[in-house]
Amino acid sequence: METVRDTPALKSLVRGWKAKGQTVGFVPTMGALHAGHMQLVKQAKEERDRVLAYIFVNPLQFGPNEDLERYPRQEEQDAALLTAEGCDALYLPRVDDVYPPGFTTKVTNADLSNMLCGLSRPGHFDGMLTVVCKMLNRAEADAAYFGEKDFQQLTLIRRMVSDLDMTTRVVGVPTVRDVHGLALSSRNAYLSDRELQIARSLNVILNGLAEKIRNGGDAPALLAAGREQIVAAGFDSVDYLECRSENSLSPISTCDSKNPARLLVAAKLGKTRLIDNVRLHP
Ligand code: AMP
Repeated sequence: METVRDTPALKSLVRGWKAKGQTVGFVPTMGALHAGHMQLVKQAKEERDRVLAYIFVNPLQFGPNEDLERYPRQEEQDAALLTAEGCDALYLPRVDDVYPPGFTTKVTNADLSNMLCGLSRPGHFDGMLTVVCKMLNRAEADAAYFGEKDFQQLTLIRRMVSDLDMTTRVVGVPTVRDVHGLALSSRNAYLSDRELQIARSLNVILNGLAEKIRNGGDAPALLAAGREQIVAAGFDSVDYLECRSENSLSPISTCDSKNPARLLVAAKLGKTRLIDNVRLHP
């Protein structure tokens, strides 16, 4: 696997592939890679001739009291995992290359950001959209792969690419889970053994609620009971537990295949904030 650190080297690599008629799949990450990230690489490999991953812990998407400093960094181990998966290249940009002195422009979408995770993480989605916009422009890939685990993020990226006439196709990849159904996340590394046991109840509660809502149960009452169940399972608090339309993230009261919807949750456990979501329509 080739490693590139500067943008001219990245551009010449990708343009070289394209000159040979090869298609390129792009997998943006913040590193501390796990089987969820690897699934993005796998799908990109299946669908494209070449796969380019990047690792960049983006300071712009961390709030002042968030975990930028302690976010897990393991570049060598990540590179070994990507190599084993058959990834063709890894782009490792430097912070001062992505945000040189004088950098001021941001990509923002207040409509889709000022809800769900955006309420407890002000500025997070502006930072995320800005870096994804820059990286998609730099990589000039045919398709970019993002996880459904971060569903609001995926929706915001789809909207940005459509609204700003960007040419890279956005591909959503279903959430990869451990054997207990817990959505894999780099932040699961923060959980103690006890917290891990509690964390594994989140998807069970979520699936139980989704099933009842799909079967026509009273969503507001089920969501209220669901919040109590999550706290009773050992979580410290529930940021949100909501049914939202998949395309607009607007609240929904009924769901059917014409109005695809998700049940989304964020809950705090010690110092860790966990998110998950499941599809509501069959
Ligand atoms: P991150 O490194 O957390 O920024 O994640 C990089 C990409 O991997 C994002 O598109 C995430 O949605 C995706 N991702 C993270 N965890 C999972 C998972 N468990 N299943 C599928 N995709 C994931």
